[in-house]
Amino acid sequence: MDDLFPVALQQLKDVFGYTSFRPNQEPVIRNVLAKKNSLVLMPTGGGKSVCYQVPALVLPGTAVVISPLVALMKDQVDNLRANGVAAAALNSQLTPEEAATIRSEFLSQKLKLLYLSPERLAFELKGLLTRVPISLFAIDEAHCISQWGHDFRPEYTQLNLLRENFPDVPILALTATADAVTRNDILRELHIPKENTFLSSFDRPNISLSVKCDFKKREKLEAIVAFIKKRKYQSGILYCLSRKSTEDVADELLKNGIIAKAYHAGLDAEDRRRIQENFIRDKTTVICATIAFGMGIDKSNIRWVIHYNLPKSMEGYYQEIGRAGRDGLPAEALLFYSEADSLQLAKFAAESEQKEIQLEKLARMEHFATSMVCRRRILLSYFDESLDHDCHNCDVCKNPPTRFDGSILAQKALSAIARTREQESADMIIDILRGSQRAELLEKGFDQIKTYGVGAETTSAHWHAYLQQLIHLGCIAKDYTQEKRLCITPFGREILLGNKKIELAKIPDKVKEKESSGAPKAKDSLDTRDARLFEILRALRYQLAEKEGIPPYIIFGDKVLVEIVTRKPASLSEFADVPGVGRHKQTKYGSLFVKTLREALTNT
Ligand code: ADP
Ligand code: ZN
Repeated sequence: MDDLFPVALQQLKDVFGYTSFRPNQEPVIRNVLAKKNSLVLMPTGGGKSVCYQVPALVLPGTAVVISPLVALMKDQVDNLRANGVAAAALNSQLTPEEAATIRSEFLSQKLKLLYLSPERLAFELKGLLTRVPISLFAIDEAHCISQWGHDFRPEYTQLNLLRENFPDVPILALTATADAVTRNDILRELHIPKENTFLSSFDRPNISLSVKCDFKKREKLEAIVAFIKKRKYQSGILYCLSRKSTEDVADELLKNGIIAKAYHAGLDAEDRRRIQENFIRDKTTVICATIAFGMGIDKSNIRWVIHYNLPKSMEGYYQEIGRAGRDGLPAEALLFYSEADSLQLAKFAAESEQKEIQLEKLARMEHFATSMVCRRRILLSYFDESLDHDCHNCDVCKNPPTRFDGSILAQKALSAIARTREQESADMIIDILRGSQRAELLEKGFDQIKTYGVGAETTSAHWHAYLQQLIHLGCIAKDYTQEKRLCITPFGREILLGNKKIELAKIPDKVKEKESSGAPKAKDSLDTRDARLFEILRALRYQLAEKEGIPPYIIFGDKVLVEIVTRKPASLSEFADVPGVGRHKQTKYGSLFVKTLREALTNT
């Protein structure tokens, strides 16, 4: 069996066009080839599919892949077929004729991979599957087996029958969701020995992280329009809290000449399907969606994700931004944080069944959004992974804050909180500090207290940011259950009394920040000429995809296009050396791409 590994490497080159396995793929593949059961935990874009697709090509028989979402299956099958691999999916969306064709292909052992929904598996376990040699079982989205997770699928519990019915067939479970409880559930249910767990880092270093605080609605929309316009033709998803805002934002983008569509659970299934399809096929550039959008989207060239509102939890945030940059090229995550969103979410959380947990999750999310240390470090530590250095790919790392002695500033705020007997929210405290004349403030007589107006020289947005820092630093506590009133901690008292000093970070200038929001893009590494070539090949890819009725990224991902324009292959054999170009695509598209490139080069 040992000698199968070189064959696997050859298949990787011939079929997928890659010269080496990623460090975390090799041991997994060796394990599968040795017929051992394994569990693979890798982030999105980590390269899970290769872990079973390559062994499927090497081992005799057909590999059976269990996948819970029809859209994902379709994407995988499209990808494999585009690389010349005989693969098919059996699911509920086929006509009886289509299903019959696939069954007969399977029975005549023509397929290297068969994708099945879990319901189908239960049904075929004693039927179809017993009639043909099976090379391996791959269980995609294996976390669906666990009742702990939020994606539990009752049909997945049937998977423990695999071991009984097919004791000699290796099982490979794969997931991008990896908390310890879920992990143990998978190991137990599928009889995978603990030592056969392959855990990769969940960091997605190609996704840059940034947060903008306290933008007014207008400013936010302007910033978003400017952001998108700078990223012409780049696919992106904008997540909103409400259905209405998905529509409002989409309208605003359309007005600005951006091809955007709203997507939410209120649309009927057919509309949703069409919107999703147009996005996948690069016809719609931007989707403004509630979190209902994204499950089952494998589009590899999503270049950015914007959160128009604060997400409810770090889990949600990470899952959503994770849809960007699956191809490994630079991608961007931009989050707009506002106190108002946070207040609204706190209200929802307080009304929910798991009040304590939800409020805690929100507090952690808010911490991430308002903190002044490397965001990736906060993010990874939330998922129990620690990064021992700053990431250099988040807004905090790129614009490190300068610090100053903030003791007096803190005392002003603390004194306002003390003099209103710790009964008021941040908004009221700030209005007192800035000497506002609003009715509620005057009615309560807060214009009479000593701190009234002492902070007028600091803008309200800056005050918000300073109060957040004081919260992070443990001077002030925010009571989420009581309309977010602010209280003073023992440490805060020491500062108020002048017994201790405190350092604060200067708030970056919003105007400057707006201008510098041009983070690296996929094509940014390209010079002007190559960027133009990229556009020419992108158009070619689009035409071919239209003709074949498949998404453009299935033909070649953005990463492959970038490689082609930088290498400028002048012959078919040079084209074959481009990473990501397997034999099948070389034959099918090689001469057309080489020719188009040559023409474009002579014209420039
Ligand atoms: P996942 O299923 O974990 O989200 P994929 O299997 O879709 O990830 O792989 C992500 C990207 O990485 C794809 O574009 C894939 O072609 C690429 N990839 C996978 N393995 C390799 C490899 N060994 N070398 C280069 N690229 C790879
Ligand atoms: Zn960082």
